[in-house]
Amino acid sequence: MTDAAPEPGTATPPVACPWCHGSGVEPFEDGDAVGCLACDGGGLVAARVQMVTSHKFPRPGARRAVYEPGRCRLTITQGRTVERYALLPFPADAGFGFAFAALKDGETEPHTLRCGGRDGSDCSCGGTSFLSTERANERAWNEGRDTHPSAGCKHLDAVGPLVAAGWFGPPKR
Ligand SMILES: [Zn+2]
Ligand SMILES: [Zn+2]
Repeated sequence: MTDAAPEPGTATPPVACPWCHGSGVEPFEDGDAVGCLACDGGGLVAARVQMVTSHKFPRPGARRAVYEPGRCRLTITQGRTVERYALLPFPADAGFGFAFAALKDGETEPHTLRCGGRDGSDCSCGGTSFLSTERANERAWNEGRDTHPSAGCKHLDAVGPLVAAGWFGPPKR
């Protein structure tokens, strides 16, 4: 079994938890069913996301995320900064694929993300990071430096690859 990091912009696919074989229940428990401690009852191994590089974090591997489906938890790491979110899917508007509420630990207002549909991606954290990415890419392009293919913000860069890897169901177009 290899432990190689996924390619930038991709996530590991859903794989059944080897401890409970995907059932989400502890296999050796007598009496009451107990949620599997290895996967928190989600039945799947946590996803690892290799996020695309950005102007602030141009080194491959500096931006990454872990999604633990049993705990509805998304952890985004950028450099030395670690942010933890509750990630909850909800029905998206037609054309927008998948929608999520991402509530950062300690905050009360979730961000709303939509991605994986034909009508593009957006996140309620604001277009500011997207616009600054666009501007920085334009400058870099003009100056012959590297550009970075961010989807607009760290939330979309973390969740988009999970959607593409099929963590929330087959693609919607
Ligand atoms: Zn398990
Ligand atoms: Zn965002």
